[in-house]
Amino acid sequence: MSSRFLPLLLTFLLLGTAPAREVTRLTLYETVEPHMGTLFKIKLYSTDKQSAMAASRAAFARITQLDDRLSDYKPDSELNLATRAATSHPVHISNDLMTVLKASQKLSGATDGAFDVTIGSLTKLWRNARTSGQLPGSAAINAARGRCGYRKMHLDESSGTLKLDMENMQLDLGAIAKGYAADQALAVISQMGIQSALVAASGDLAFSESPPDQPGWKIGIDSLDGADKPFTRVLFLSNAAVSTSGGTEQFLQAGGHRFSHIINPETGMGLESDIAVTTVSRYGITADAAATAVSVLGCDKGLAFVEGQPGLAAFILEQKDGHLEGRESARFKTLAQDYSAKIQHGNN
Ligand code: AMP
Ligand code: MG
Repeated sequence: MSSRFLPLLLTFLLLGTAPAREVTRLTLYETVEPHMGTLFKIKLYSTDKQSAMAASRAAFARITQLDDRLSDYKPDSELNLATRAATSHPVHISNDLMTVLKASQKLSGATDGAFDVTIGSLTKLWRNARTSGQLPGSAAINAARGRCGYRKMHLDESSGTLKLDMENMQLDLGAIAKGYAADQALAVISQMGIQSALVAASGDLAFSESPPDQPGWKIGIDSLDGADKPFTRVLFLSNAAVSTSGGTEQFLQAGGHRFSHIINPETGMGLESDIAVTTVSRYGITADAAATAVSVLGCDKGLAFVEGQPGLAAFILEQKDGHLEGRESARFKTLAQDYSAKIQHGNN
C-alpha cells in the first residue's frame, strides 16, 4: 500500500525493439545527450551507421537550438530576452517561439486558464521554495499571481510579435517545450531519410513510423507501485506522441502537505493531488501540454476536456484515501484494447 506522501510515478518502458531485419538490413541505433535539463534519447532504424549518426547529430543540433530559444533557465534565451523587451513594445519572435506560445494560448483558453505559460513568476517562487524547504508566504504568492495570466500575453501572427501587459512578467515553457522539441527532432530525422525513429525526453516521447516488422513502438506505462499491476498498460504507437505529467519527484513537503512542481494558476499553489496523467496525441507539443493541463484540471474535468479534443487520449491514475484509481478516456481504451486484441490473436 502506498503512503499518502509517496509520489505517484509513472514509468515509460520502451519494450521489445526489433532486431536487425534481414531483408532491408535495417539496424537499430541509439544515442543519448543531455538537453533541456534532462536526457534526450534517440532510437532509429538505419541501413548504415554513418546515416544514423548524421541524423542523430542533426536532431540534437535542432534540440540545442530550441533550448536556446525556449528555455526559461538560460538568462539569454530568446524567451527571456523577448519577455523582458515585450513589456514595453511588441517584439518580433522566431517561428518556434510563436508556435509554442500560440499552442499554449489556445490551451489556456480551452482549459479556462488551468494551463498557463505566463505562470513563470509563480514557478520561480516555488522553485526557490523547494530549494529552501520553506513554503512561500501568501503575500509573495499573491504578488507573483498578479504578474501572471494568459490574457496579459498578446501574440500577433501577422507581424510575428509578442507583447506583454505588465513589467516583470516571466514565461515558463517547461510544460510544453520538450514535447515540441521531440516533434522537431523527429522531423529532422525524417528529412534525413530515416522513416522509423523515436525521440524520448524523460516523460515526453514522439514516434515516426513503426520499427521494422512491428505494429508500432511498444510502450509500457506502469505505476511504480508493484502492488498496482492492474494499472499497467501497453500501447503500440507510430506517428504519435505520448507524455506523462503530475506524479513527480519534484515536490516541496512542508506543514504536513506535499506540493507538486505543477501549479494551479487560480490559487498560485503547487498541486496537492496525487495524480499521474498519461496522454497520447499525434504530436508531442499537444501530448506534453495536455498532460500538464489535465494534472491541474484533475480527473473529472480533465477527462471531460480530453473527450472534447479530437485525437487526444488520456490515462489518469489518482491516489485517493490510500488507494489507487485508474481512469481512461474512450480513445485510450481503444488504443489499449487494440493491443489486447493483438495478444489474443497471437500477433504481438
Ligand atoms: P510537465 O512536466 O510537462 O508537466 O511540466 C511541468 C512544468 O511546467 C513545471 O516544472 C513548470 O515549469 C511548468 N508549469 C507548472 N504549472 C503549470 C501550469 N499550470 N501551466 C503551464 N505550465 C506549468
Ligand atoms: Mg507537459
